[in-house]
Amino acid sequence: MLSLSELKSLLATPQKIVITTHHKPDGDAMGSSLGLYAYLIQKGHHVQVITPTDYPYFLHWLPNNSDVIIYTDEKEKAAQYVAEAAIIFCLDFNTLSRINELGELIRGSEGYKVMIDHHLDPEDFDDYRHWNINACAAAQLVYDFIVNQLEDPGLMTKDIATCLYTGIMTDSGSFRFPSATSEVYRIAADLIDAGAEHWRIHQLVYDNATENRLRFLGHCLTNKLEIIREFNTAIITVTAEELKHYNIVTGDTEGIVNYALSINGIRLAAFIIERTDRVKLSLRSTGDFPANEICKKYFNGGGHRNAAGGASEQSLTETVAFFKSILAEYKTQLLQ
Ligand code: 5GP
Ligand code: MN
Repeated sequence: MLSLSELKSLLATPQKIVITTHHKPDGDAMGSSLGLYAYLIQKGHHVQVITPTDYPYFLHWLPNNSDVIIYTDEKEKAAQYVAEAAIIFCLDFNTLSRINELGELIRGSEGYKVMIDHHLDPEDFDDYRHWNINACAAAQLVYDFIVNQLEDPGLMTKDIATCLYTGIMTDSGSFRFPSATSEVYRIAADLIDAGAEHWRIHQLVYDNATENRLRFLGHCLTNKLEIIREFNTAIITVTAEELKHYNIVTGDTEGIVNYALSINGIRLAAFIIERTDRVKLSLRSTGDFPANEICKKYFNGGGHRNAAGGASEQSLTETVAFFKSILAEYKTQLLQ
């Protein structure tokens, strides 16, 4: 284990550092990673951000995005960075299985592992942990790490603030989830004071879609939405053929599940999609309905109470039938 003061003294001289985040990184994963990156390079460290896979195009505008390497595209280079790193920051995830092959490289590396995360059930692979499930985003914890733990509030630049604001905005559903506490709003205000242009960030993330995405969304809502009133549940199912037909790329399916949840009375929404390697589920719920419990128990996944995900080895049709068969177990909670 590493204490905060040991970590601080390690960071007092330039180090080789790797920052990584979860599979198919989202706004919080990239915002927290590039936010921490901008801070650490300012301190004179040699830093490499490595993502396990590619990520949505609407995050490619983030400051220093061009410095990121994607493990699946540059395996050897990434492995070398991991092997040589004195410190490896693991942001927005807490089990090494969430980052595929890269996780095993990190497990075997000699560098200190620092986990900054807000998901349930962390695995014990880290040397230093800044973990709080009440945080609305990993980016909120990175803010706290820089400002309160490393005591560097003066180093909050526009780039750092822009990245951290992006993470907080996306993971809090644009400040609408219960996790967006008054403290989160205060942090957001601080980030705006430091240069984050909230209106521009919102536009770049949410009003930056491809035409294909919008037409695909129309197709999902018109033809693929199933509402099961008996269980206050809505499901959108998508086949691999439909993804191909609409030329869907990473990021195009993001947020579609929220439309299903926006229907009056719906407590649970599922977006079930046939990827090339497996069937992937995205669940969203309202109030205290535990979407993550379903993912953990039945779909080898997890996440937060109101936003969770998992996967299935069965066919799309079988997965949808299985998902529907589970609903009866949760009927009381779904009808509350
Ligand atoms: P999304 O539905 O946007 O893919 O994921 C929502 C949340 O669910 C993520 O922030 C993450 O916490 C969690 N999640 C999604 N997929 C998985 C998975 O396969 N395994 C685990 N453990 N969590 C997941
Ligand atoms: Mn997150």
